[in-house]
Amino acid sequence: MEATFPEISVADTVDEDYCRELEARIERVAANYRDCTVCELRCAVNRWEGELGRCLLPRDAFVYKEYLHFGEEESIVPTHTIFFSGCNFRCRECSDWRWVVKPTSAPALDYEALAARIRERVTEGARNLHFVGGEVEVNLYAVLRLLLTLGRRLPIVWNSNLYGSPLVYEVLDGLVTTYIADLKHPEGPCAEAILGVPRYYEIVTRNLRAVVPTAEVIVRHLALPGHFECCTRPLLMRLREEFPDVTPNLMTGFYPFQRRAPTVLPRRLTNAEKSDTIQFFQELGFKSAMIDGRWDKRSGL
Ligand code: SF4
Repeated sequence: MEATFPEISVADTVDEDYCRELEARIERVAANYRDCTVCELRCAVNRWEGELGRCLLPRDAFVYKEYLHFGEEESIVPTHTIFFSGCNFRCRECSDWRWVVKPTSAPALDYEALAARIRERVTEGARNLHFVGGEVEVNLYAVLRLLLTLGRRLPIVWNSNLYGSPLVYEVLDGLVTTYIADLKHPEGPCAEAILGVPRYYEIVTRNLRAVVPTAEVIVRHLALPGHFECCTRPLLMRLREEFPDVTPNLMTGFYPFQRRAPTVLPRRLTNAEKSDTIQFFQELGFKSAMIDGRWDKRSGL
């Protein structure tokens, strides 16, 4: 189902009730940062004091680009996409590796300046505010402070690996309009080998169950070369079975950006892999679905 974003304007009004609610949520996250369990890696470091866990982020956030994006899922564009550095995953062939391993080399987030830029992007046609990374969830405190700086409710797209602890989704409940969640691997050895995190499928599907009742949910599945039988096939079948109300977006454009040795994903999909994967996806009969971000006319729209 397509998201119905409300009309947004740049009127300079502050929603006092919304801000009070945000302040309470910010306090909760700030307290957690003293013994950080924001994501399920549960590093238990004091980010307030500058201690670093896997995401390599202190309390502060760093933003490496923002722009009005026309190339994302067609249900959300044009979207003001804001990229936060730092990530809890270590994906093989990551496209943004530099900002994952050196997150503090990006410009430090200036809340007032970014809020002003968000207002500008609304005047340029942004339908929503779209937070991504790196990984946005490890930047939760900063994102909430940015929303408080804005002072008024805007439609929010939360584009994440969905590997947060339950705290994240409790704090975001009622704030997020659309989740875009990655789901790459089912249970089995591939997730840990390629993403570098344990209990991947268990955690992400638990979190999907938490957010589905609260917002529109798009689940991206990036098909990886040589991983149809072990990953794509079983995962899409379970998605169809267990999450009938999400919109899957099959992504076929994998590119091996880093080629770090020893590489496990050295190439793109072949044409045959791509067409077989699309055919399988369409035969599953999702209620609504996308392929590479475009509505699939063969799904049940
Ligand atoms: S957000 Fe996750 S990776 Fe970062 S310090 Fe907290 S628990 Fe560790």
